[in-house]
Amino acid sequence: MEKLELAIAEIKAQLPGTELLENVPMAEHCSFKIGGPVRAMAFPENVESLTEICRILKKHGHAPYMLGNATNILFPDEGLKKVFIINSTKLDEMYLTEDGAISAQAGISLAKLASFAYQHSLEGLEFASGIPGSIGGGLMMNAGAYGGELKDVVESVTAYSLKEQRIVELPNAECRFAYRSSLFQQEGGYVVLGAKFRLNKGDQAAIAAKSRELNEKRRDKQPLDLPSAGSAFKRPVGGFAAALIDEAGLKGFAVGGAQVSEKHAGFVVNRGGASAKDVRELMAHVKKTVFEKTGIELTPEMIMLSPELSLEEN
Ligand SMILES: Cc1cc2nc3c(=O)[nH]c(=O)nc-3n(C[C@H](O)[C@H](O)[C@H](O)COP(=O)(O)OP(=O)(O)OC[C@H]3O[C@@H](n4cnc5c(N)ncnc54)[C@H](O)[C@@H]3O)c2cc1C
Repeated sequence: MEKLELAIAEIKAQLPGTELLENVPMAEHCSFKIGGPVRAMAFPENVESLTEICRILKKHGHAPYMLGNATNILFPDEGLKKVFIINSTKLDEMYLTEDGAISAQAGISLAKLASFAYQHSLEGLEFASGIPGSIGGGLMMNAGAYGGELKDVVESVTAYSLKEQRIVELPNAECRFAYRSSLFQQEGGYVVLGAKFRLNKGDQAAIAAKSRELNEKRRDKQPLDLPSAGSAFKRPVGGFAAALIDEAGLKGFAVGGAQVSEKHAGFVVNRGGASAKDVRELMAHVKKTVFEKTGIELTPEMIMLSPELSLEEN
């Protein structure tokens, strides 16, 4: 039996209570509604089960691919035959610490985190209330909107180091947060388990008003009625991706079921039946056209996984 199959058999035997899906069509589990089957996806309900799965995978020479709400990922049409996904969305504890910070596990959605902050009259997370991801994915990507980023409100991150097989707590300064990037993304090898958020006391009505205003803006400008993975490209130096794509005449440009949104040129939407191949071809065309017209190179913001992805360790 292959190493991954041995690991799956052991995980099933050791953790019979943990939800485990096999040969899961990722189109049914991600915001883009695109992607073939992944070999297995587990939903551990606590840190102990999660780290035990990591330990078993490591014993068999594998590492997990971590997933949150899957709102920033393009899964390949061919699927991921050699990948074991750990989905962190069932890690959902959240509480106010004695010194007034919010402690929240990786699976909590950013909307729920922002709502919890509002309930306790804590300001600074209004920007996050409309981002559809989880804390785990959000910290990985240093998610942000309307001038705010998670890095502005994170005090520390708790993570499991796959290499050292132990839990570490990293203060904000060690997380190397940058625009849509973090230590966890730059180095890999970490499972984000949760974080502590430090916010200031504010006026509850003002917090609600700001969240409402930003969410209305989002609904006005973004194609929230169609599946997507959020902004397709990062903001390049010297411009805004959406404006550059629009000025290049690409709004509405389509390849198969994938289309540059007619509402917001920074989004690639699945207007029905799009394949990962359609999205890749469309993005390559957009990148080439914008570069020819402006000399500016666009780089993808969404994570585009290759069917060759294998997290086998030597
Ligand atoms: C309509 C729409 C609007 C969006 N608007 C915004 C926006 O305004 N601002 C913004 O920044 N983003 C936006 N996004 C993108 C996305 O929601 C964010 O990047 C979000 O933070 C991703 O979280 P997730 O839980 O969905 O992560 P996923 O897509 O599940 O994963 C993203 C990355 O994080 C890793 N990951 C996930 N969980 C963990 C974990 N526990 N430990 C280690 N690694 C992990 C994954 O391996 C992957 O590399 C939008 C997306 C959509 C569909």
